[in-house]
Amino acid sequence: IHCHGEQEPRRSRRSEIMASHSASISSDKRFLIFFDFDETIVDETSDDMVVQAAPGQYLPDWLKDTYQPGRYNEYMQRVLAYLSEQGVTESDIRGVMEKMPATPGMLALFQFLRNRPPQDFEVVLVSDANTFFVESWLRRNGVRQLFHRIFTNPATFNKDGRLVLKPFHSHDCARCPDNMCKQAVLRDYVVRRTQERGRPYQRVFYVGDGANDFCPALALGPRDVAFPRRDFPMHRLITETHEAMPGEFKAVTVPWVSAEEVVQRLRRLVAE
Ligand SMILES: [Mg+2]
Ligand SMILES: [Zn+2]
Repeated sequence: IHCHGEQEPRRSRRSEIMASHSASISSDKRFLIFFDFDETIVDETSDDMVVQAAPGQYLPDWLKDTYQPGRYNEYMQRVLAYLSEQGVTESDIRGVMEKMPATPGMLALFQFLRNRPPQDFEVVLVSDANTFFVESWLRRNGVRQLFHRIFTNPATFNKDGRLVLKPFHSHDCARCPDNMCKQAVLRDYVVRRTQERGRPYQRVFYVGDGANDFCPALALGPRDVAFPRRDFPMHRLITETHEAMPGEFKAVTVPWVSAEEVVQRLRRLVAE
């Protein structure tokens, strides 16, 4: 039996946590690349996939009917409470997350980033999912160490075995959900790291799919590259903005169907 629900040995997990918290990201990296998670790294939405852990793999209508527009996170808390009442465990949820497929070409893109010289890419994940969903998948797929930082909603199991979510932060962006504006995350990160490094990055890249990936991409400059998944909301919003407000969206836009197309463009840019 392949027992992938087992916890990793404690020592390896602790050393990984220490590594990710250490201040020693080498300061000589040329490029900064941000990734969204749902429908960008994985070809699913983790909040939808978690339903597969429910008895019968569906949610009852009375629960689905409690959803109110703009109140997504409260709804998700009710879903997670329901799952724990139904006896769904941490390892059940982890198992569902671990099985999500990567988007086409994404593992090749990770391989490319991993094989570049260490001074090339600082890799950051910014997701409105949560720490448990994201880290379960990354660990299972052997790519956790690629990411220097992960910005997502904190999630922990309480003593009743229920996954409890907390908002990532608060912000004043009218475009984004209350718990996370990815532009605020990106701006804060770039400002802080630029101070620490004492110099700017050569280019910043952003790989995403959703409407909430459009907001951070608006903060990119003309040397930066937005990689929206083709025909997904981020791509549509960029196209609409180019039409309605020329000059407002500044980054070069490279839409992709397979992340191999991202690799091809990055290969050209790192060789410049
Ligand atoms: Mg997404
Ligand atoms: Zn925003």
